[in-house]
Formats: sequence, structure tokens, C-alpha cells
Amino acid sequence: MKAEIIAVGSELLTPYRLDTNSLFLTDQLNRLGIRVTRKVVVGDDPALLREAFREALERVELVVASGGLGPTADDLTRETVADLLGRPLIRDDAILHTIEARFQRFGRKMAEVNTRQAMVPEGAIVLPNVRGTAPGLWLEANGRIVLLLPGPPVELESLFKSEVCPRLAKRAPHVRLFTRDVRITGMPESEVEQRVAPIYTQYSEAETTILATPGEIQLHPRVWSSDAAAAEKLHDDLVKRMVFAVGENVFTTAGESLEEVVAGTLIFNRATIAVAESCTGGLVAERLTNVP
Ligand code: AMP
Ligand code: MG
Repeated sequence: MKAEIIAVGSELLTPYRLDTNSLFLTDQLNRLGIRVTRKVVVGDDPALLREAFREALERVELVVASGGLGPTADDLTRETVADLLGRPLIRDDAILHTIEARFQRFGRKMAEVNTRQAMVPEGAIVLPNVRGTAPGLWLEANGRIVLLLPGPPVELESLFKSEVCPRLAKRAPHVRLFTRDVRITGMPESEVEQRVAPIYTQYSEAETTILATPGEIQLHPRVWSSDAAAAEKLHDDLVKRMVFAVGENVFTTAGESLEEVVAGTLIFNRATIAVAESCTGGLVAERLTNVP
């Protein structure tokens, strides 16, 4: 199954806010065996929003959107999607009462604008949001699933795990994502690539990405498979060969940080370390003391 993510919100197109929801969603979808093939950030503009949803629905079976479900006039996802799918919005009194009760708990009176959050496109499944006022919405049309989720990350994350995951798990294919993590230090990216490319290109079932950060290169082979044993075996094989090709510059295949490996090695050997640092601002000591 393929999915696209639409992050809605004009604030996400400013230098001040970053779309982080799509990272969480991608991780969660991948765990369910769903590939994210595209994501987009769209401002609160009904015409652009409509276009984004229409195009995504032409390409994939699952469209997951976050944001734009708030009570204010700029939040238009619900209305735009209802209109695109030709579903009238119907007021759901149960949602309205939940929102009113939520305000009461905080000693406040619900503002009239919040009634918009109780509007549900006909036929949608309402996904209760215990962390906020806007419930999520699950819509199905023409063999496609559209998920509308609230923007605030705490709300989106808890709602996704409690309401979306169990439902999607039933619909998702039995294919899962398997991945490994080979970490290398002290070797430039180009040299790592030169050594491992002849190997990973032989494994067409795996997609291997190289991630370079200052002082560290990571290799991430990824395999989508419904056969866990075969996927693990393929990884074992591929990783063993890549590690052999890179040599002693590989410091872990277990996802540890370099300082964790150094600390572990010191402890194992009952050794201590002393550093005299210059031009680092104490960075070596800082990294070492990051490990409790
Ligand atoms: P909304 O549901 O559009 O009213 O969004 C409410 C708030 O959620 C925004 O002000 C942002 O702070 C946050 N938010 C919305 N979308 C995202 C996103 N994609 N990633 C991270 N935070 C978001
Ligand atoms: Mg918004």
C-alpha cells in the first residue's frame, strides 16, 4: 500500500515552524508496511488544498493529512475535503457535547466557533481526540482512504496510535519494512560509497541509503517484505559484506552512538580515558559524558 501525506498550515510555510508530523506519520506508516511515496506542505488556502487532495487521491490509496481542523476561520481541511468528495457536513451532537464538556472541565465556556469542529462529512468515522477538541476523521471514497488528523503533535500522535493504527493494521498488506543501521566513522562518504556500492547494488530487493553527518556515515539498507526470515537473512548477508568492505571504520551495527561504543569499550577493558582538547570547546569530554 502506498500513502501520501499532506501537512496543512500556512505557518509551516514560514521560517518559524517545521512540519514534524510527517516524520512521525512516515515512521508509523512504514511499521504498518505502508510506503510514503510523496509528501507536501500546503498553506491554508482552499483552492490549493483541494488540488493537493485531488491529486494525491489520483495516485495513492491512502492520503493522510494533518492540520487545518481547528476552530478558526483559517482552518479549512474538513470543509475542503467534504466538498471535494461531495459529502455534506452534518453536525454530530455527541462531538459537540464532548467539546463542551472539555471546556467545562477547564472552567470555560465553549466559543461558538468550536461548533465547526463538530461538523462531520457524511459517512466519515469519527476518531475521538482525548488530547484536544478536534476529532480525527476517517473517510473512504472510491477505494481510497482519507485520514484527517489534528495538527498539534501530541494530539496527532496519541490519536494515531490509539485510533488509526488498529484500523490501518487490518487494512494494510502483510508486507513490513525491515531495516538495519551500519555506522562508520573516520572515512569520507565518497570512499564509503566506493566500497559498498558494488555490494548493495547486487541486492535489488534492498534499497540502501547513505546518510552523512559530520564525523559519521550511516548505511541504511531497507527491505519491504512479507517474509520476515528471508528479509533478516538478506540483511545479515548484505550487512556482513558491507562491514567487511568498510573494515575497522565500522563502529556499530546495533544503532549505538560513537560515544556509547567508546564508553562500552572502556568499561569492558576496565580502562579510563583522558583528553587534552584544543579548538573543540570541550566537545570530546561533552560527548563522552553524554553517556551516563
Ligand atoms: P491546526 O490543526 O492547523 O490548527 O494546527 C494547530 C497547531 O499544530 C499549529 O499551530 C502547529 O503548531 C501544529 N502543527 C500543525 N501542523 C503541524 C505539522 N505538520 N508538524 C508539526 N506541528 C504542526
Ligand atoms: Mg492550522
